[in-house]
Amino acid sequence: MLAQTLAGTALNAGVSVGIAVIHRPHVWRETTLALDVKAESERLKTAIREMIEAIDRLVGATPLIEKATHEVLASYRMIAADRGWIRKIQTYIQKGLSAEAAVQRVRRHTREHYTHIGDNILKERLADLEDLASRLLRHLTGEHGNAEELPESAILIAHNLGPGELLDYDRRFLKGVVLEEGVHSAHVAIVARALDIPVVGRIPFLLTHVNKGDKLIVNGEDGTITIAPSVQAIQEAREKIVHIKKTQSFDKDFYHAPCKTLDSVPVSLSLNGGLPVDLNLLETFNLEGVGLYRTEIPFMMRTTFPNINAQIEIYQEVFDQANSYPVTFRTLDIGGDKIIPYMWRTSDENPALGWRGIRVSLDRVNFFSQQLRALMRAAQGKPLRLLFPMVSDISEYQKARQYVEHEWNHAKEKGALLPTSLSCGIMLEVPSMVEQVEALPKDVDFISLGTNDLFQFFYASDRTNPLLSDRYDVLSTPFLRYLERIHALCKKRKIPVNVCGEMAGNPLEAIALLALGFRSLSVSGSAVGHLKKMILKLPLKEAEAFMKKALETYSPSLRSDLQAFAKKHHIL
Ligand code: PEP
Ligand code: MG
Repeated sequence: MLAQTLAGTALNAGVSVGIAVIHRPHVWRETTLALDVKAESERLKTAIREMIEAIDRLVGATPLIEKATHEVLASYRMIAADRGWIRKIQTYIQKGLSAEAAVQRVRRHTREHYTHIGDNILKERLADLEDLASRLLRHLTGEHGNAEELPESAILIAHNLGPGELLDYDRRFLKGVVLEEGVHSAHVAIVARALDIPVVGRIPFLLTHVNKGDKLIVNGEDGTITIAPSVQAIQEAREKIVHIKKTQSFDKDFYHAPCKTLDSVPVSLSLNGGLPVDLNLLETFNLEGVGLYRTEIPFMMRTTFPNINAQIEIYQEVFDQANSYPVTFRTLDIGGDKIIPYMWRTSDENPALGWRGIRVSLDRVNFFSQQLRALMRAAQGKPLRLLFPMVSDISEYQKARQYVEHEWNHAKEKGALLPTSLSCGIMLEVPSMVEQVEALPKDVDFISLGTNDLFQFFYASDRTNPLLSDRYDVLSTPFLRYLERIHALCKKRKIPVNVCGEMAGNPLEAIALLALGFRSLSVSGSAVGHLKKMILKLPLKEAEAFMKKALETYSPSLRSDLQAFAKKHHIL
């Protein structure tokens, strides 16, 4: 058999060599109708109880896995016990379907519903629900067929997987996962990260290319897999594995070393997060705090709107996990492609430019006030930092701020314990705001530069469209000049600015940001180690001189020039 390399997307770093095991979801035999509605309803209740107990045992049986996995499983368990899901199944039973058929019917509807949604996080919930539906059917039918026995060094091949399905396999032998679907934020990817196994996703027609027993190399660094690799390719992969292990092992001194450039300029590093699991690294890396907490993520992982008490619980958990580190909570950034189906559906023709972020909050003030109230309650006795997304005009900030003041005064009048301090900031991610930085009111305490959205608006290039993903570069001189101007405006207005878009977490792109004068970066957990490594080696003066010269000319991309710079100075 000739070696064949297929390209997908790297969902978790690392390289491994192993044998393909095909994950096949069980196909169920169905008895469609049932006469005794009460008996079916009881069968469902028993099966759900057994399933939740079994999930609890699964969680309990994973002592080797870090906290992150437990958090994911906890949210998975939460979905399992979700009343909305169970109620839908019960409704079909009431209509005369057997419990199995009712589960299948709800599963089919969920599938249809989620396929029309562009948002990746919501799509990943589908994987969880599929996993749970199969699990529930197993409990209903009593067919508890365990996951297939694994050969030593198994690479799991699947269309998509839920976190529980992954953990059904014996993790001692599991060396990699390859999926036809999957995104970086997928639960299965988070669990795989905790298990430290490489994951490659989004390989078209994967299941028609790979057969059970095929030898494979999974390369979670460049997002490829190789089927039937040559002896030499296997040798190279093994060398890569050894190399990766070496480069990943940061020692304690590195973790706690002050974060400053080679020429001693301090750089502030903070964390982007959306789930409490994301916050584990705060202490490990001695970070400044959470620079961007995306509050919409916990909303997107639920099937019903969290009421004020549920929200207080969510935010309190974030504070607990963050310990005494400061957290910047971004108010709900939904709309556009981040749809929360249980709240409302938008039919924007042009979602990225549509009803999103602060626009939604200001038009649905009940939700907004509720979120502000919950955040204030959770922040009692602690500093509260609020950040408003997609602000396009100063008046939007002012209105949002008025709601904050209102909630603050309301809490005060009621004699509630207040947060110890309040800071409010705006996301700078819409070009119109750049022209308003100088005029920002005094009570804007900080700016978070959202390069993801800013870049898509700058080049009129949809950030979710794969056809455009390589067309324009954040390292183009027009965009970098724009960022330089933003930095100068913020400096003139004496307002602290933190860069929280993906650019900040990419070591090469971060060199450009630092060279332009930015000194505060907020990045995802997986980026922190490599970013800090780069910063400690960066001769900033040289980088500034390089950038100054480069910006005098036009270039669609300084990427290769920056790579050469980094190589010359042994940075990356
Ligand atoms: C951004 O736009 O750069 C940003 C950080 O926000 P999000 O990616 O959540 O839109
Ligand atoms: Mg944004």
